[in-house]
Amino acid sequence: MRVLKTLSVPLDRVEVSEHTQMREVIGVVGGFLTPAAGKRSDPRRVAVQFARANSQLVSEAYVVQNAPPAHPEKKPALVRPSTAARSPAGYHVQLQQSYQGIPIYGGRAVVHMTKDRGVYFYTNDLHPARPEAEMGKGRHLTADEALEALSSVLPWRNRARVEPRCSKVFFPQDSSDLRLAWCIDLTLEEHTPISDPADRSADWRAIVDMQSGDVLQLLNVSLYDWSWARVFYPNPIVSLKNEELTWDAQLPDSAYRMIRLAGLEGSGFLRGQYADTRETANRVREADGQFLYRRGERGFVETMAYGFVSRVMNWLADRGWGSLFPSPIAINASAAIGDNSKFLPNSWELRFGGGKVMDAEDASIIVHELGHAIQEAQVRGWGTCLQHSPVRAMGEGFSDWLATVYFAQERRGYHPTHVGDWDARGYLPPDTHLRRVDSSKTMDDWSADEHADGEIWSSTLWDLYLRLGGDSGDRQVRNDARDTAIRLVLTSHLYLSDGRRETIEYVHGLSALLDADRFTSDDVTQPGPHERTIRDVFAVRGLSP
Ligand SMILES: [Zn+2]
Repeated sequence: MRVLKTLSVPLDRVEVSEHTQMREVIGVVGGFLTPAAGKRSDPRRVAVQFARANSQLVSEAYVVQNAPPAHPEKKPALVRPSTAARSPAGYHVQLQQSYQGIPIYGGRAVVHMTKDRGVYFYTNDLHPARPEAEMGKGRHLTADEALEALSSVLPWRNRARVEPRCSKVFFPQDSSDLRLAWCIDLTLEEHTPISDPADRSADWRAIVDMQSGDVLQLLNVSLYDWSWARVFYPNPIVSLKNEELTWDAQLPDSAYRMIRLAGLEGSGFLRGQYADTRETANRVREADGQFLYRRGERGFVETMAYGFVSRVMNWLADRGWGSLFPSPIAINASAAIGDNSKFLPNSWELRFGGGKVMDAEDASIIVHELGHAIQEAQVRGWGTCLQHSPVRAMGEGFSDWLATVYFAQERRGYHPTHVGDWDARGYLPPDTHLRRVDSSKTMDDWSADEHADGEIWSSTLWDLYLRLGGDSGDRQVRNDARDTAIRLVLTSHLYLSDGRRETIEYVHGLSALLDADRFTSDDVTQPGPHERTIRDVFAVRGLSP
């Protein structure tokens, strides 16, 4: 098998080599593509063939096999397909690592292939070692004994709604040690509304060491809903359509909107699947899950920040981007950093500053900072490139665009392209906006300032959204245009994931968008269906690949 050399990612950024020696191009989407195996091929078989042909990608102690073996003890260390997921970009086959028929916890690799089964991406979390030291030594706890050991840490007896589910796993304790353990899933009796924050009613997962009985890991995996929050959506100027509104105006109830908060874990804090306001000083706690504050009250900006982060992340999850965040992002909704906000990639935190209008009172500021976090979650190190480099300017542009396009319906006909239009009312002197995404700038206006140059990028993406149907009078067409634009833009970020981001320029971002269009379409051998539109909106800005 040979790799194709006809992809649109510039080849000077990709080292293409023989299919069997391509360790160095792993992670560069578009850098390789194995010949299509055809739409009739079983994606699992293709994944197995790929992994076998590239055995250096799989941990050496393991054998890649298609079917479960009749006698696992004869081939004890195996990697074989577990699931095959379908997405707009094709198939994603998960390979699971096991030893003597017992799965290795988290020991997975994923082979990504196009709809007609050409492999173009591979991710690997396989454990390098065999768990030999663990086998056949000492006495092992039975499942009942493990449940008894667990009850001292998590009092679950008399509260389990269904029989606890227990399965054997090898659990990686540190980089080299694999412990034989029981993986226990529990569902405990719920009490709603939650009256006692210390109540441990929930879905839980526990890992109990099979020899020592130690609880190696205990996770609350439940996702509670429906709590309510009172927020600006996106801000009072837009809700009231009042251009004269000053930062200190008395606001009527119609300036607010009630939203549901999904995914709160039930502690009474604003803590859930995607965010945790733990960095906010004097954070609020509502045992009944009702976060109903007004501007100026403690908890309002914290609720805004949590509400919009979780809302946007859930919205993206509904569009196929459910596993972007490695962990809930920490939020400081009232940080002492002046009238400014930040995303901190190393501490995985969002910080929102003050001002006459606090930053987290303006939903577009929240979504802008969240945009940086999303990009970092997609491509680790996006934000640690040189200041004012094109890749950072693309980050500013993307974040402004996300903050605008997300509220396209609410802003329709009134401040449709504004970012920070409420925050800016608190500036000295007051202003109408922080930035806009409808600038007429082209590449001739390049100024080597990441926020100014970001306006070229945000405005191009805004044009793209309009050209895809965002300018339609039909709401469904506009929503579809937004979904298409989000799919293209987020997918394109994945194609800018190599370690040479300092060399990335806007033209590479354009190529990545063309690739995203192609690889999420039905026929990846052809340019994508929106190729002409994408090229046109970029050409207006002085960019062509
Ligand atoms: Zn920014």
